[in-house]
Amino acid sequence: MTAVHLPGTPVIEGDHLISTSPATGAEAGRLPLATADDIAQAVERARAAGQWWAGLGFDARRDRLLRWRRLLAQRMEQLAELVHTEGGKPVADAIVEIVSAVEHVDWAARNARRVLGPRKVRSRLVLAEFSAHLEYQPHGVIGVIGPWNYPVFTPIGSAAYAMAAGNAVVFKPSEYTPLVGQWLVDTFAEVVPEQPVFTAVHGLGDIGAALCRSGVDKVAFTGSTATAKKVMAACAESLTPVLLEAGGKDAMIVDADADLDAAAEACVWGAMTNAGQTCIGIERVYVVEPVFDAFVAKVVERAGRLTVGADGADVGPITMPSQLDVIRRHISDALARGGRAALGGADSVRPPYAHPTVLVDVPEDSDAVREETFGPTVTINRVRDADEALSRANALPYGLGGSVFGQRRAVAIARRLRSGMASINSTLTFAGMSTLPFGGVGESGFGRIHGEDGLREFGRAKSITRRRARSLLPSTTFERTPADVDRLVKAVKLLYGRKL
Ligand code: NDP
Repeated sequence: MTAVHLPGTPVIEGDHLISTSPATGAEAGRLPLATADDIAQAVERARAAGQWWAGLGFDARRDRLLRWRRLLAQRMEQLAELVHTEGGKPVADAIVEIVSAVEHVDWAARNARRVLGPRKVRSRLVLAEFSAHLEYQPHGVIGVIGPWNYPVFTPIGSAAYAMAAGNAVVFKPSEYTPLVGQWLVDTFAEVVPEQPVFTAVHGLGDIGAALCRSGVDKVAFTGSTATAKKVMAACAESLTPVLLEAGGKDAMIVDADADLDAAAEACVWGAMTNAGQTCIGIERVYVVEPVFDAFVAKVVERAGRLTVGADGADVGPITMPSQLDVIRRHISDALARGGRAALGGADSVRPPYAHPTVLVDVPEDSDAVREETFGPTVTINRVRDADEALSRANALPYGLGGSVFGQRRAVAIARRLRSGMASINSTLTFAGMSTLPFGGVGESGFGRIHGEDGLREFGRAKSITRRRARSLLPSTTFERTPADVDRLVKAVKLLYGRKL
């Protein structure tokens, strides 16, 4: 008989990590726990594998990555079922996540040579006698540390780009979703059976910490801001570079000329897809006064229709049981401070579920507005105009994504949002756009995955100059004469000292 554990809480039994369903507590599967030695060995093996992989060159790597993409696409229903069983995510949400991941593998594979490959760079008049070359060489081994909420999309956003750039990857999945992590590395091994280019090590946070100190050449971390700070501190000991994709508290701004039906539909999806457990999920909405009541009514009507449950529902269980207390606390705090529940309320949290909750007129200093809630809840506050919406949206230390609904001023508002990304007249869409970089500012982290910047994160710029002629204005030599220096001064004044 299958063991039943507290829903969703991973269990350690002997030397195994047992993953459990957050809906039922039934065991979803088990994997061996890594030890410090296992991590050292995984990194050592990855180092050799990385050299082999880098040596294959861009085209052979592209072919392998495209074969992996094909496997992911062909088996997406199987993977979605696993994401659902292990993390509780509705299958349809899992499919959307996987589609996005497949798109990123495809783009990274096809564009790595163009973005990172060797190329000639134009030289300038000063040093015109030299040619310039640039290429991005792989770091070697990238340690990827991932969260549970998008267990396919988030590691692939780093790993696929890192591997396209010629690195090997050692991946530490979240203890809540190790089976999905293992599935990803196993399918990769089907298309790259020769060497352990992409491997996983399993365990709790200490395994992530050990990976940071294992001698990897860069760490790509996705997770909470609190853990991001620990990761950066651990990496600082050896000056290991880090890429940090951390938490968020994304805002949506609804201007007076917005299509309110479209805004309400996108708000409900942006706030409540994956039960609100989305780093770029909409957690706060600022609506200009004239359209406030109409917008709230439309959101409440749509959110009220969502079904909650284990199978086939719109909103699944909360994956990490401890998050239920945070969601409950945020709702109570908002209500205690004078906010109003337009949908749901104090009794919205019924473990393992949190039911859709819409809180309006919530004080800006309440936890529900300032901290990551990570549940199917949203606050909607009224503002005078878009400027007030912006000053409130930009008041938090987080700055990941955001959304703007409107017409005339929408682009200007989106540009002024203090965030790494924004979507106009939609929510979250920038995440699936493989041509665009993804990442935050402030407490949401730094560095970028996805797009050209995402590829460059995983390559070191290597700059090479080559003499192609004798110097007309020799300066970088002790053979230069005072006359040479005079000519240099005159030339530079002629070139750069003129009136603009
Ligand atoms: P955590 O920060 O709790 O964990 C993230 C990963 O770090 C897990 O694999 C975790 O392992 C590991 N870890 C824990 N402690 C350490 C440590 N000391 N050193 C190294 N690694 C460690 O985040 P969650 O998994 O709870 O994910 C949710 C968070 O992720 C939210 O804040 C969300 O906003 C953010 N997120 C950000 C995204 C972005 O792109 N900016 C995307 C998705 C999520 P274990 O699970 O075993 O503890």
